[in-house]
Amino acid sequence: MRFRDKIARFMWGRYGIDGLYYGLFISYFVLIVVQRFIKVDFIKAIISLVALALLIFMFFRVFSRNIAARRKENEKFMRIWTRTKNFFVLQKNKIRDIKNFTYKKCPACKAALRLPRKKGKHNVVCPKCRNRFEVKNWF
Ligand SMILES: [Zn+2]
Repeated sequence: MRFRDKIARFMWGRYGIDGLYYGLFISYFVLIVVQRFIKVDFIKAIISLVALALLIFMFFRVFSRNIAARRKENEKFMRIWTRTKNFFVLQKNKIRDIKNFTYKKCPACKAALRLPRKKGKHNVVCPKCRNRFEVKNWF
């Protein structure tokens, strides 16, 4: 039997790689790099231990046969990751558009709305939930 076939046979019914795998992998790497710049031995040891735990968890998940549980973990992680990513994209867009647009949250559905930056009071209709509300721009 070829080596590749042996691996394929070993991985049969096991969970494998997903978004959380990459998240753990990157976190592990970041911790290893950060740990190198820390001078206090005690804190350095804790960070190394956490990094090792992440690595073990990462491999445990890849070879796990409990696919339903691993899928659930990944869904949770991806939800948090998407929310975090969207937050940073919004901050980036706010800076990019600072001259011409203002960003407001709809008080009803919490959607982020990009509005033209015009001084004064304006009536706004949320395109997502049709809620009407007033917006004040100071500059
Ligand atoms: Zn709304």
